[in-house]
Amino acid sequence: MPFLLRRCLWCAAFLSFCLLLSCAGGPETPKIGNGAHPETPDAARLLRSGDAAGARHLLLRIGTRTCAQELLLSEAALTLNDSEEALQSALRARGMAANDPQLVHMADLASGEAFLAANRAEDALSAFTAARKGALSMQERDRATVCCARAELARGGVEAARRLRNEILRSDIRELADLDRRLALVERISGQPAATSNRTPNTSTTSALARRPPGKGIAPPPVNLRASWNARPIKLRNEPDPMGKVTRVTVHHTADPNGLPSSAFVENAARVRAYQSAHQDTEKWADIGYHFIIDRQGRIFEGRELCWQGAHAGNEQANLHNVGVALIGDFERMKPTDAQQTALTTLLTWLVKEYSLPWPVIKGHNDVKRAHMAKGTTCPGKHLATLLAQIKAKG
Ligand SMILES: [Zn+2]
Repeated sequence: MPFLLRRCLWCAAFLSFCLLLSCAGGPETPKIGNGAHPETPDAARLLRSGDAAGARHLLLRIGTRTCAQELLLSEAALTLNDSEEALQSALRARGMAANDPQLVHMADLASGEAFLAANRAEDALSAFTAARKGALSMQERDRATVCCARAELARGGVEAARRLRNEILRSDIRELADLDRRLALVERISGQPAATSNRTPNTSTTSALARRPPGKGIAPPPVNLRASWNARPIKLRNEPDPMGKVTRVTVHHTADPNGLPSSAFVENAARVRAYQSAHQDTEKWADIGYHFIIDRQGRIFEGRELCWQGAHAGNEQANLHNVGVALIGDFERMKPTDAQQTALTTLLTWLVKEYSLPWPVIKGHNDVKRAHMAKGTTCPGKHLATLLAQIKAKG
């Protein structure tokens, strides 16, 4: 499988790193004889300006290269499609990097890229996994995770790639869009979304959240992915409208006639699955109507993916650009639990920040329904309506 972006993942960061070390005279400053060697900054600049052949030429003139220089050479060779030279340089760099976690991380990434270029996806995955483990920051970890997902795709592990993709917390990793395009393409070809069989609760971020365009870099609250409750795929034959710009949020209660599930994750996941079945099979909707569901223990479940308009507020007009959040319970009769209150506050605060929403557009179902239809509803119940007013007043 061709990997068009194989070279840009760590290149920019690495080049800046090399220049910084060379200028600052740090431990990796290449030295030959008495003084700092001029080739590294020059080679880095040449690489950055697109002259990989020039950079390689400079680097090959150095008799004994440092770790940083080997990494630069690997990068140059990769750009020139010489995967063998790229791999040898990267492995030499890895051997020299032992005591510097930053260089170890970069050498692992470089080795992974070279392995990928040489069509050695298994080895690439090992190297990228090591880079992920050795990452020193969230951003480095997310970048390495993108690399792992690419290696998984290269070895045919679509489900694993999707799972990795869902573990990425930051939305401002610029390589994400490309990975998402690949995943979407693979899923279209295979006819099914990957990772739907992953039943393990995942409290990182949602696939829907992660799939949104690069946003403000505010981490979303922990959400149990659709895969964690074994969601069915969306029924695209009833294709819903794309969400477009999010402009408001509507809060609901589920007013369950069947009592409440126990505190166990599996029971709550089964309840969310039951909502989806009712919405898809009885209501004939494309998917579960809400975008988020909060159980009595404060777990947030990913409902309909945010890229799709929901089915929760009453009619087409009411659902337009509207995120639906439902809390499990009947809040005419009971109060939301403390955990539900905290989870709702966290989720709404994130939505408000992420989509630059004014707090007044966060409303209970009754207010939204009455604005669009003749008849109102008791939803979200008087106790949740009171809580919502309190959250908005503090917000
Ligand atoms: Zn409602």
